[in-house]
Amino acid sequence: MKKITIAIDGFSSTGKSTLAKQLAKHLGYVYVDTGAMYRAVTFYAMQKDYVSENHLNKEALVKDLPNIKLEFHFNETLGFAEMFVNGTNVENEIRTLDVSRCVSQVAEVSEVRTKLVASQQEMGKNKAIVMDGRDIGTVVFPDAELKIFMNSSAQTRAERRFDELIEKGQNVTYEEVLQNVQERDYIDTHREDSPLIKADDAIEIDNSTLTKEEQFNLVLKLVEERV
Ligand code: C5P
Repeated sequence: MKKITIAIDGFSSTGKSTLAKQLAKHLGYVYVDTGAMYRAVTFYAMQKDYVSENHLNKEALVKDLPNIKLEFHFNETLGFAEMFVNGTNVENEIRTLDVSRCVSQVAEVSEVRTKLVASQQEMGKNKAIVMDGRDIGTVVFPDAELKIFMNSSAQTRAERRFDELIEKGQNVTYEEVLQNVQERDYIDTHREDSPLIKADDAIEIDNSTLTKEEQFNLVLKLVEERV
């Protein structure tokens, strides 16, 4: 069967990673969560004080970029690859609301994007990959055989993210999460370098009213048409 590249883009908390993981498992493909990479650089930058909610020392971050080594290590028990920065597992640390509050500022920096995009293209050079993010179908793999663009209302997305954070024991309110989702939507769609937009040839899925199973079956059909 022909191996293809599947690009899944869309707004935050649209369930991109759930769908991407399901597809990769079913097809025996590699799954790459590019949001985790931007979050990992952000976590590193927060520790070094290069970034906080209202400040970014772009010069210092750019200078230190060559020292940031990102790796994914597959965790057999969890069934997905965890994010490591310079040899340390940061999978839990990068999912906090604090990191979410800083990540879009870091993702605006062109030098950061250039570094991460090059590494994403390297990971996908042999196809058989499902990658999710904001610029996969437009910048990372403009020739991907299947491009999906996912969307749903900010309220639905905030509810999902809120439930996830509470489940992980984090102390947040729904209003804080909704505000963060809306702020990231704004920055991600308005930045100069690789803004979040639907690729012309992407298929849009609004999953506000679809179950996970319905969504998976819909996308699997699209995959089968292409392999
Ligand atoms: O997907 P996730 O919500 O974890 O992504 C976190 C942030 O990383 C996004 O809000 C966006 O600012 C940035 N991002 C990006 N390009 C990608 C993936 C994520 O700019 N391909």
